[in-house]
Amino acid sequence: MRVLLLGVISIMAITVLSCTDDSLSLPGAESTQANDLQSTADLQTSPPAGTNDSGNDTALEPTATLVIVPPNSTTVVSPNPDPTQPATTVSPIVIPDATTPASDGSSYPTKILYLDEVWANIWLCKDSTVESADLTASGTQICSVLTEVVGDNFVINSTGIPNHDFESTPGCCAIEQNQVWTIPLEPELSNAEPVMASERGAVAFTVTGVAIYGPEEGPGGDAVALEYEYFVEDRQAVDLGICGGHAGPGGEYHYHYDSNCMHWHEDSQDIAGYTLDIASSVISKVIGFALDGFPIYSSYEQDQSGNSVEVTSSYRLISGENGYNGIDDYVYVEDLSNLDECNGHFGSTPEIPEGTYHYHSTLTNGDGDLGFPYFPLCYKGTVNEDNYRSTDLGRGVPPPRP
Ligand SMILES: [Zn+2]
Ligand SMILES: [Zn+2]
Repeated sequence: MRVLLLGVISIMAITVLSCTDDSLSLPGAESTQANDLQSTADLQTSPPAGTNDSGNDTALEPTATLVIVPPNSTTVVSPNPDPTQPATTVSPIVIPDATTPASDGSSYPTKILYLDEVWANIWLCKDSTVESADLTASGTQICSVLTEVVGDNFVINSTGIPNHDFESTPGCCAIEQNQVWTIPLEPELSNAEPVMASERGAVAFTVTGVAIYGPEEGPGGDAVALEYEYFVEDRQAVDLGICGGHAGPGGEYHYHYDSNCMHWHEDSQDIAGYTLDIASSVISKVIGFALDGFPIYSSYEQDQSGNSVEVTSSYRLISGENGYNGIDDYVYVEDLSNLDECNGHFGSTPEIPEGTYHYHSTLTNGDGDLGFPYFPLCYKGTVNEDNYRSTDLGRGVPPPRP
């Protein structure tokens, strides 16, 4: 076990774009924006995430501060009140390292071989393209995925369009991208401190090649908290569609939370009637990958007895906050669930029964409240900087401002 002094993570957000909006039902849309993150503590910030999200407007984002408090701490550290000042504080939290044996005595391997046969069929839209309808724009876009090995990396090329119908919402409208995701052929846990993922840009991608964005929407609020009406967004209209995502800058469709659409199968249900009903009896297969190459699973997995159990996050809203300030409004509480501050942990998965480090999408936290950060918030492995899109043609570069 290694002790990390994790404390406050300060993040410099940068440009913000957002969508307009209307909104509606489930996970909603939002706008995102690109940003840079910089941490003042041990949790490092990722290089400028190239892409950002969303919407329509842009604005300068204030510095955000993420506070991580040790589980048994009696004092909750307040977020840095002055965004212009460096964050302070922090209490140590204990994070298991890659070689920490499981409680049952087994050990967890730290590498995954994506060329192994078990991983060959996880990609959707790979062998045949899928035409998906944009329910906002009334048009259709093509879902297509191609994979190849380039040196020590596994490269996924996609159009960034899901294999299910979707809503662009006010960020309208999604257009096919030239997405290129690069992950190591053999993901390995880093010996360095966790690297912060983008707040509003791509932090991961799905098995259909669609971007998964950080938790914040364009103006800086928590996109999911907004969708569930924890606060009123008075800075810019933002909305998530029925699939927990929307179109952002450059027409890049992206998810903000796992609304079940990414588990959708064409023959089983009409997307228009889709609801947040991830069946607890269904054990998640891999749904995507974080930019460090470690797999992401949904919110249900098998426990050691073979039963399906919900996996929850370890973040909690700071008393009196509602998500309006994005990640600044949350605090990490180590024993709130069995997920770490990056929303991952070690354990067995359908593809790697012997166990590996992996991330989860989370719908709720250990209290049954919001599942912030919904997807990976930081990386335990090494991230290929090629993923911090610089963009070319529609990728990553915010669209011209109106
Ligand atoms: Zn967004
Ligand atoms: Zn798990």
